[in-house]
Amino acid sequence: MKYKSTRGGVAGLGFTDALLMGLASDSGLLVPESIPDVTSQLDDLRHCSFVELAQRIVGMFVDDIDTATLNRLITEAYSTFDHPEVVGWHALDNVTVVELFHGPTLAFKDVALQLLGQLFQHVLALRNQRLNILGATSGDTGSAAIAGVRGQDNVDIFILYPKGRVSPLQELQMTSVPDRNVHCIEVDGTFDDCQRLMKETFADLDYKAKYQLGAVNSVNWARVLAQIVYYGYASLKAPAAAQFSVPTGNFGNVFAAYLAQRMGFPINKLIVATNENDILARFFATGEYALGQVHQTVSPAMDIQVASNFERFLYYYFDEDSERLNGFMSDFAATGRASLDVIPATELFAAVAINQQQTLAAMRDIKTRFGYVLDPHTAVGVAAAQQLCGAEEPILCIATAHPAKFPEAVEQATDTVPTHPSLDALSGLAQRKSSLDADLSAVKRFLAESVPA
Ligand SMILES: *Cc1c(COP(=O)(O)O)cnc(C)c1O
Repeated sequence: MKYKSTRGGVAGLGFTDALLMGLASDSGLLVPESIPDVTSQLDDLRHCSFVELAQRIVGMFVDDIDTATLNRLITEAYSTFDHPEVVGWHALDNVTVVELFHGPTLAFKDVALQLLGQLFQHVLALRNQRLNILGATSGDTGSAAIAGVRGQDNVDIFILYPKGRVSPLQELQMTSVPDRNVHCIEVDGTFDDCQRLMKETFADLDYKAKYQLGAVNSVNWARVLAQIVYYGYASLKAPAAAQFSVPTGNFGNVFAAYLAQRMGFPINKLIVATNENDILARFFATGEYALGQVHQTVSPAMDIQVASNFERFLYYYFDEDSERLNGFMSDFAATGRASLDVIPATELFAAVAINQQQTLAAMRDIKTRFGYVLDPHTAVGVAAAQQLCGAEEPILCIATAHPAKFPEAVEQATDTVPTHPSLDALSGLAQRKSSLDADLSAVKRFLAESVPA
């Protein structure tokens, strides 16, 4: 399989080059040159374990790592999960919760970032190359990315996060990691400052090349690829064509679901569930993609206005026509809004914004009726499903985090404080972090002084 950019400026790239490139060099996003069709293999794939299915699906998109090695990397990646089938499955009434939070940092991002860590390690060793990962986080990405690459010889990872604005637990999940290749940097500013500093550092192409900078955010194709697997897996486990409700921020997770559907897995509905940051819900209702204010909510991993993976969806919506995509994206960049001539809500997609009160009410309702505790992101998806589906209609709700990661919101909704042994084990550990001003030259100087020679 070869990869090309949504913007039309890159084509014919192998998988491992796509993995290391992250964002395409023409500022677009990398996508596969074709989408494999699994329709004729479904009966066979239905019998696969999660790891076997991952090996089959990822193998269809990778032809520059030999099969035995790729299969081993995939097995290693998922050996860190504490659920025997990697993905948990919890039936309530018509709602079935698909638990993706059984990895080392208790968020669904582990499913992709554990594999990314294995892939980086293998590819960099083979090429005798180093990578210095620079990332910005408002919470979950930082710890999951660190857990994916900690202790590796050829990688150092630098995570910028806003001082005092990530939860104490999320900070501890990052700063308590003792490996020397991990660098946590609290920035005196907001998450937007961190993201801007990261983007401006990457934009200095000489600096990026000199210090071999790489990215782990969800613009990296390998993250989307790893996420296709659980949609295929869950759809084959469901008794009828699957409907999914997906708590959405950067559109990476639900985009993977869309690709699984395009590959021929039995999926017939995707609910894009957002919190008050509703740019995507408005888009699917009206065809207009218009920037709004960022609202702080109880589901902070979804407090995003510009969803970086949305470009991949638009590219397919425009029938892989880069020129139409470029027109849309440049309108949006210039004015903060762009629109389609038609309303894009389709047979396949529905979207809805869920407010804070509805989120907390869903948590309370599910706890009361079933004794099951939702995290506030998963609750957005469940509330969306309750709003858009009939009471009898089966729906699979993607659970993106373990409730113990967000104890304040869970306590507010249910009067119980959820715990998890791996989070309890962090208390009292030594922390290690550096502090910087929200200043580009300070960040660049810090990186230059910290990367191994
Ligand atoms: C990252 C994250 C999301 C949003 O996922 P996207 O792929 O950005 O749409 C939702 N919930 C949790 C807990 C997350 O960490």
